[in-house]
Order: sequence, then C-alpha cells, then structure tokens
Amino acid sequence: MKNKQRKETATKRMRRLEKEKIKRQEKLSNAHEGARRIRLEKKVFINLLQEQLKPQQNVKLAKKRIAILNPCPEPWKSKAMETSAEREVRLENDQREVRLENDRHFKSTSRAMETSAEREARLEHDRHSKSTSRAKETSAEREVRLENDRHFKSTSRAMETSAEREARLEHDRHSKSTSRAKETSAEREARLEHDRNFKSTSRAMETSAEHKSRLENDRHFKSKSRAIETAAGRKIRLEKDRLRILKGNADISTVTNTINTYCDSICEICTKKTYPNQVTTYRVSTSKAPYLPAELAQKTPLLLCHRCNKHVNSSKQTPPSKAYWNSLDPGAIPEVILQLFQPEQRLLSRIIPFVKIVRYSGRFEQYG
Ligand SMILES: [Zn+2]
Repeated sequence: MKNKQRKETATKRMRRLEKEKIKRQEKLSNAHEGARRIRLEKKVFINLLQEQLKPQQNVKLAKKRIAILNPCPEPWKSKAMETSAEREVRLENDQREVRLENDRHFKSTSRAMETSAEREARLEHDRHSKSTSRAKETSAEREVRLENDRHFKSTSRAMETSAEREARLEHDRHSKSTSRAKETSAEREARLEHDRNFKSTSRAMETSAEHKSRLENDRHFKSKSRAIETAAGRKIRLEKDRLRILKGNADISTVTNTINTYCDSICEICTKKTYPNQVTTYRVSTSKAPYLPAELAQKTPLLLCHRCNKHVNSSKQTPPSKAYWNSLDPGAIPEVILQLFQPEQRLLSRIIPFVKIVRYSGRFEQYG
C-alpha cells in the first residue's frame, strides 16, 4: 500500500480520490432514494389506513362512492405511483365527494324536520324557479340540459341494484296512480290527447329498423307478461278483450244501421248494379219486347234500370245494346288487372278511350 501510494503521482492521486468520491455519493444517493421511496409508500399506506378508520359516517360514505366510481383493486399502490397532478385531482375529487355527502346529509336532516306548510312552500319555490329558468334558456341550453339528464339517468340506472330498481318502479307506480286519481276528466282527456299526439309523431318519424325493434320489444314484453300472469289476471284480460270486441261490433252495426241503403239492385237486362231508387218494375209484354230471351219472357215483373225500362217500353224491335245476351261481356278479368290494388283498378276503369275522326280539306281546314 505504502509502495503504491509512493508510486502514484499527485495528479493520479487526485483523480483516484475524485472517482472514489463520486462513487460514494452515487451509492449514498441510491440508498437515500430507495429509503425515501419506502418511507413515502409506508406513509401513504398509513395515511390511507387512518383515513379508512376515521369514524365520520360521511367520509366513509364518500369513500364508498369514490370506490364505486373508480374501482381499483390496490389503491395504496396506485396512490404511490400517481403523479402530483393526479394526486391533486384525486384529493379534489375526494374533498368534493365529502362536501357533497355533507350537503346531502344536511338536506335530508333539514327536510325531515320541516312542516308540511314549509315543504309546500319550498316545493312551490322550486317549481317557480325551475319554470323561470327553463323559460329563459335557449334551445341549445335546453338540449344540453336534456342530454345531461339522459346521461345521468342512464348512469344511475346502470348502477342500481335490482332491489333499488324495484323500489323506484314501485314509487313511480304509486305517484302515477295518485296523480291520476286526482285529475279531472278534462285533464285526463288532455293527457290522453297529448299521449296520442306524441305517439303518432314519434311513430311517423321512426325508421324501419326502429319500427321492427319496437314491434319485437312489444311481442317480447307481451309474451313475458303472459307467461307470468295468474289465472285470475288472465280471466280479467280476456274479459276486457271480449268487451272491446263487442264494443267494436256494436260500432259496426251502428254504422250499418245508419247507412242502410246500398247499391245492390241489379238490372235484369244490363246487369248494372244500382241503388233501389234507380230501378223500376216492368211487367213483361212479349208483343212489345219480342227480343227478350226465354228466361226473362217467362219471369214477371222484371227489375230494370231506367235506361233499359225506357228501351223496352219504346217501339224498338232490337234489344238494348247493353243487354247481357248481346255478348258484350269482355270475359274473365286478366290476372294482371286482378293483381292491382283497388285504387289502381278504379283508375283504369275511369279511362274512356275514344277516337275523333275529322276530315280535313284544302290546306288543313276542318270544313270546306
Ligand atoms: Zn239496364
């Protein structure tokens, strides 16, 4: 050692010492960093444990809510790894949740203590402020509010348990039946009218895919509700259906009784369908109408339309041009026409083709 020290020059010695110093510092800083890290992690873990063991109910509830919102299997690890910015955000969120929980607690306590008059006044104030603010908002603001509401609703419904869902539905059913029991007949009619309008508008706007899915949902709901209905419920439903059908039939018979005149009298010569006041009876006289076929000559009286009646009473010796034995029947209706819809058939039957022949003379003159 002594030899070595003797051999090395002052410059070499300085360099060696410098190197050793740097090495030592590195070692120390590494050890320091490791220890610091362990110490911090421990601190965080202990802090968390202490926070979890705090007796305040509100903080506990807030933590629970945070855990539901941000599920993390190892919270202390994630906290140790988070950046300072993330930590800021987390703490802010925690504080917010605690504050909100406190607010909720305060609200529920004060509401439990208020009298019915105070409650009514508060609700009235709420209603008024709501309607005022809604009257002021622009359509964009309204859309944003509704979108927020929808989002909040869907989120909270996705998180609710089956018991909570049942309780909510029960509450809805109860409030609905209460408000309906209170409404006057005019209010009821207005509500039904509004529902009908809304339904028809939304159905007119739905796409074919939406239409299909709605029908599918309806079918599914129906089969589900029928599968769980009791025998008594089924009986009531069938009775209701029967009453509805009877009512419908009664309506049809009322219409039939009101419109009691039909186009069902058939002329026996031209087979034209007419109303009862468009036909007359005719006593057959073979001397006047020798052209009548045997089946009509033997029958008396005949039911004829005014046109045929006029013809047979005239001195004409030829049958009416539209008489059925004149073979003007065009035969069976072609399949192409039979496949058309009623309105299309009516459109075709209204077409009356005609030809007008005009003889020109000279230079394109009509008469000359
Ligand atoms: Zn006729």
